[in-house]
This record gives sequence, C-alpha cells and structure tokens, in this order.
Amino acid sequence: MNGSLFLPSEAYALERDAADGLAHFRSEFYLPQKGIYLDGNSLGVMSVRAEQAVADVMDDWKRHGIDGWTEGERPWFYQAERLAEWMAPLVGAAADEVIVSGSTTVNLHQLAATFYQPVGKRTKILADELTFPSDLYALQSQLRLRGYDPDEHLVLVKSRDGRFLDEADIISSMTEEIALIVLPTVLYRSGQLLDIPLLTAEAHKRGIPIGFDGCHSVGVIPHRFQEWDVDFAYWCSYKYLNGGPGSVAALYVNRRHLGRMPGLAGWFGSDKEKQFDLGPVFTPASTAGAYQIGTPHILSMAPLLGALPMFAEAGIEAIREKSLQLTAYLMALLEAELAGYGFVIGNPREDERRGGHVSLEHPEAARICKALKANGVIPDFRAPHVIRLAPVPLYTSFHDVWSAVRRLKQIMEERSYEQFENRRGVIA
Ligand SMILES: *Cc1c(COP(=O)(O)O)cnc(C)c1O
Repeated sequence: MNGSLFLPSEAYALERDAADGLAHFRSEFYLPQKGIYLDGNSLGVMSVRAEQAVADVMDDWKRHGIDGWTEGERPWFYQAERLAEWMAPLVGAAADEVIVSGSTTVNLHQLAATFYQPVGKRTKILADELTFPSDLYALQSQLRLRGYDPDEHLVLVKSRDGRFLDEADIISSMTEEIALIVLPTVLYRSGQLLDIPLLTAEAHKRGIPIGFDGCHSVGVIPHRFQEWDVDFAYWCSYKYLNGGPGSVAALYVNRRHLGRMPGLAGWFGSDKEKQFDLGPVFTPASTAGAYQIGTPHILSMAPLLGALPMFAEAGIEAIREKSLQLTAYLMALLEAELAGYGFVIGNPREDERRGGHVSLEHPEAARICKALKANGVIPDFRAPHVIRLAPVPLYTSFHDVWSAVRRLKQIMEERSYEQFENRRGVIA
C-alpha cells in the first residue's frame, strides 16, 4: 500500500474494490443509478438471474399449462425440494432437512405447533424482548390455542441495555418450566449475532428443544445447524437472499426429528409417492418437506432459482468475510469522519458477535434517514432512533461505503436533515 492510501481516502476504497474477489457479482444486480443501496437486510435488490428465472417459470406455465407440474426443466412438483438443495449448504444442513415453503411467520407457527409440547410443569415458551414482534405474536397465539395465557407462559429474556442480549441471561432463564426456546440468530435492530452452538448445547442439557429465526443471518453468515444440533430454524428469502418481495421462506428441521407428525398438516406435506393417492389419512414425507402445507407458491419461489446459485458460486464463507470487512470499514469511516455529530454505533464490534449490518443510533435518526434517501443513500430506519446500514457483499462495493459516509457527513455538516420531520413513514 502506498502512502496516499490512508483509510478515509477514496483511493483506499477503490484499492479495496480492486482486491475484492466478489466484486464481479455487482454487475449482475439492478442497483439505483446514482444511489447507494444499503437496505439489503430488509429487501435485497433484483438480479438479472432472478428476473430471468421468473420469465422462465412464466414461460413454463405458458407452454405446459397443467403439465408444468411434472414437465419442463423445472417441474413445479419438485421445485421446493430443488431449492432446498441450494439453501441447505447456507445453513449447514442436509438437503432433506430443509424445505422452501411458507413465510417466516407461518413457518414459525408450523414449527411451534410441532415442537411446543407442554407436559407437566413444562408449559412455557422462552423468547426475548428484542426479537422481531411477529415472532412474539405467533408464539402468543400458539400459547392461546393451547389454552395458556401468554402473559404468564411467554417468558421474555430481558436486555440489560436495550441493544444486546447476554447469553448468560438466556441460559439462566432455561428453567424446568420451559418447554420450547425460540431465539433470533441475529437481532434485527442491533445486529448482535448470538452464540448459537452454546445456547443449543445449554438448552439440550436441560432437555429443551430450541429453534432459531435466521432472517437476519441466512445468506450473509454461514451456519452449521446440523453440527450444532439445532432442533429447527426458519428464515425469509427476501432479505440477504434477494428473492424479491414476499418470496417464499424456508425452514430447517434436524434429521433426528424427521418422520414425526408436523403440527399443521396439509396435502403438500405428504410423501410424494402417496400424495396423489388422495387418501383420507395424511402420510407425511420423511423429509422436511413434511412441513409444507398447501400448494407451493411457484411464482414467488421463481426468483430464488436465479438468486440462490449465486451464493453457491460466491461461497458463504467468502460472503461472510467480505461482509465483516465492509462493516468494519463502515464503522472505521463513521468514527473517523463523523465524530462529534452525536452518532453511537449500537452493534457489536467483535467479528464473532456482529451480524451483517451496522446499527447507527442518533436522536434525529428518522429525519437523517429521509435526508440520506434524498441524497441517494438508501438506509433503513427502525424507530425510535436506529439507522441500519447493510453493505451487502454480493452488490455493495467499498466505494459505495465510502460515498455513503461522505454524503452522511455532508448532511450533518449542512444540517440538511432539518428540512425533514423527525417522524417515521408508514413503512420503516
Ligand atoms: C423480516 C423478519 C420477519 C418477517 O416475517 P414474514 O413472515 O416474512 O413477514 C420475521 N422475523 C424476523 C427476525 C425478521 O427479520
């Protein structure tokens, strides 16, 4: 490195891009013309391959009609299983332990309906107060369906600082009253990555099944669910996996549990050989496919046929490595360039505890986000004061990170955020 390449310089950013082995993927995505997209942890951007895959599936429908279920290169009857083959390596599972199906929240319902088996004193579900609210709503309703009062039976681990969870606090809440544990892999606001193998081992020592919501990690952080013996997991495909708005989610069930009756049965969970016998009794598949309910959302899965192979080509380990470099670079620039403007970095600094985004806190966060958008930087706001910035390894460059910080600095220097109201929009 020569002397002009000090960290805050544009030349340094360009140098990092030149040395980046994943840089070539960027041209496969539709990115805003002059903008910088840092919201891939809410909705990943479209790729040329995803677009083509949708066109291909539409073409199959056009050409094959009903026979599209079994004909053509991508028979719909096997599409969920086929996508599971691409998904499984991202979470360290075998293909038959994964199925692409449902939505995140529906999959949690399915898994809670299966794995929440209250007996005797063990009637409570353990979750945490920082988790995504939809998960809590689902767990509350599962408790109500079994006749339990969620106020008493949903135990929420508290955060000491409103940002992070302490694994020791989670473990000490694993009492003999707990029948099921559901936690996020990465907290959606602060980006804290929990110690999944530790929590799983501690839950199992106490005989408690444990599952994880992987929405904020799958596609940016490798997992080894099978090796860690995680009981189940579920995640969406529209964030880091770039499947498009409402694309079909996925779930994992450890092979120890395959073959048991899913809590919510439907004909698409059938053993494929038996499904079209159309008999009155459900015969579940011997794979995670058993957890499907109705007809797969073929069109909402289609983008994944294009998007997922990119992860196999890039390699999830290389993706994680670049993600850590991007977030480390972003934090270093924020500290170098924006000291004195009242920002606090609210995500973990350590690589092994940090997810895929930087969580920047500021009392004026809502209107700073509006000013960023007006200046072509697309962030993500989480009330009351968090700006999430996700540089995504497959399409964000180091130069993007550099430009975003430069634009933010200008907004703060000129106080241009003051033209906006400090309130969130309908979607934030
Ligand atoms: C995005 C997200 C969800 C969304 O659930 P959907 O059913 O896809 O709407 C759930 N949980 C977490 C942690 C998320 O980040």
